[in-house]
Amino acid sequence: MRILITAGPTREFIDPVRFISNSSTGFFGYEIAKVAAKRGHKVILVSGPTDLHPPEGVKFISVSSALEMKAAVSKFYGDVNCLIMSAAVADYRPARFISKKMKKDGERITLELKRSPDILLEAGKRKGGRVLVGFALETGNLTTNAKDKIKRKNLDFIVAAALNKKNEPFGEKRSSFIIMDKEGKIERFASSKQRMSKIIIDKVEKMRYSKAKEA
Ligand code: C5P
Repeated sequence: MRILITAGPTREFIDPVRFISNSSTGFFGYEIAKVAAKRGHKVILVSGPTDLHPPEGVKFISVSSALEMKAAVSKFYGDVNCLIMSAAVADYRPARFISKKMKKDGERITLELKRSPDILLEAGKRKGGRVLVGFALETGNLTTNAKDKIKRKNLDFIVAAALNKKNEPFGEKRSSFIIMDKEGKIERFASSKQRMSKIIIDKVEKMRYSKAKEA
């Protein structure tokens, strides 16, 4: 298969020094890319800024902002048969970029933000025969939100994790996850991201195989 994977956070710069971003190490996406490449798939990894080394045997594209990530995904989307969108894309970016470093001025300031495109939602609109996988991190209503995202973004399945005192699924820790498919079937895991990555690629391969048989 030819698999496009996104990972890591995006950075939305306010001025040349400051940015807003999401908490994300990129570890999960890089693990998925590693597993997929080891299985012999052609992998393109589009990554926001992380401290990780790109896995061996992967075409690596480094990006910073949501708009750059969207451009990279658009560039390669036509050539792949699977998109795994594990990146923590910042939903909003500063409405204006301030070209000189802002000076401290006043006790409060207001930052105007505007919505960035939803890369996965747009990919879902021209899905073709591709396998589309989304990710989600929620502080509440995990299954309801997962179900809504599968439908809205036209996904085959979603990997979702709750963020609370008992489960902090950032970085290399073992965490709890659910995988929900488009029929609403839920599988629950308490697992490492290495093991989850194998499960995800198994599922992608199976889905690709059944889609190819249908076609
Ligand atoms: O709606 P929510 O942001 O929770 O959905 C998460 C999924 O959508 C992830 O797979 C993420 O990579 C993707 N996403 C995206 N573009 C955005 C926001 C999220 O592709 N602007």
